[in-house]
Amino acid sequence: MDDSRASRLADVLSGESSFRIRQAEEALYGGHFRSWTETASLPKVLRERLEAEIPWLSVSKVAIFPSKRSDAWKALLRTSDGNGVESVLMRNSRNHFTVCVSTQIGCAMNCAFCATGKIGLIRNLSQDEIVDQVRFFRGYVADSKLSGEITNIVLMGMGEPLANYEEVREALRTFTGPMGIGTTRITVSTVGLLPGLDRLVKDPDWPPVRIAVSLHAANENTRKNMMPTTSTGFLDRLVAWSHDYAEAFPEKRRHLTFEYLLLAGINDSEEDARKLIALSRRVGKVRINLIPYNSTDSIHSGSDANTVMRFKRWIESNGITVTIRKSQGGDIAAACGQLAGKTVSGERITNSG
Ligand code: SF4
Repeated sequence: MDDSRASRLADVLSGESSFRIRQAEEALYGGHFRSWTETASLPKVLRERLEAEIPWLSVSKVAIFPSKRSDAWKALLRTSDGNGVESVLMRNSRNHFTVCVSTQIGCAMNCAFCATGKIGLIRNLSQDEIVDQVRFFRGYVADSKLSGEITNIVLMGMGEPLANYEEVREALRTFTGPMGIGTTRITVSTVGLLPGLDRLVKDPDWPPVRIAVSLHAANENTRKNMMPTTSTGFLDRLVAWSHDYAEAFPEKRRHLTFEYLLLAGINDSEEDARKLIALSRRVGKVRINLIPYNSTDSIHSGSDANTVMRFKRWIESNGITVTIRKSQGGDIAAACGQLAGKTVSGERITNSG
């Protein structure tokens, strides 16, 4: 049974004019209201029915943790079945906000450097729970009178998006449809689940958002140690897939990104850079995003600043576009790999039973 908000909304609005349907959608997704009661332009009877049958938000706030630099806010949200989800709001120097959204509670991928992976998978988030992380932060930005607006979304929080394919796709359709976020302003980050990657290039309903593959090593053995989901022959299959992707999404703005977390002594040598350059050449249209590591409770430590810069120079001197991701929210355990659904006291909110 389809229990999504879109389906319940269609039930409640069946028989209404297309004008009313648009009005109700705009009320929910336009970002101007905080509840059905505020939507005065809808007839009272309809408003009351919507209020009774369709919860305004599928997640509720447990706590917000602002960073000291006021450039990141982590939200701990609770789902209706009592699980904790974390999302992060980040602000750049131009007052543009990005929301980092979770797609699962926990994660089954078990990447060695990631706090979420230690939890294991509890469950997939629904399309509404994914969308409502952004709707929650839209309200937070307005209510807290933060100047600027949410312009970008990255699906890089808890979970592997392509392991929750249908719900993620429907959430993307809501982001790019009624919520009006452009496809090139949304990035789905994946460990590189090949069945999901293969599916999305052939899926006419998959919005043409950007894809970032968490590569982290261009040597299969090193990658297997970091990311146990790496199968034998993964890198060759990824290269082959990247050509399908370029064919399906030929626009330059839909470029593929390789995320590369730099870990001291693991994947930051000149030899590692050479392998990354060779792989990138086989792919063709790709950008590299180097990520300084935020320590979790794992045994790894990040490469030092000099090594990060040296690694960057090795890559860019070969004509490959490379950036270094600015880390935000490290002091509130909101940076990459740190999300684990915990309250400020470190207690984890889950309801796996
Ligand atoms: S890095 Fe991403 S895919 Fe890997 S365990 Fe963490 S949340 Fe899952």
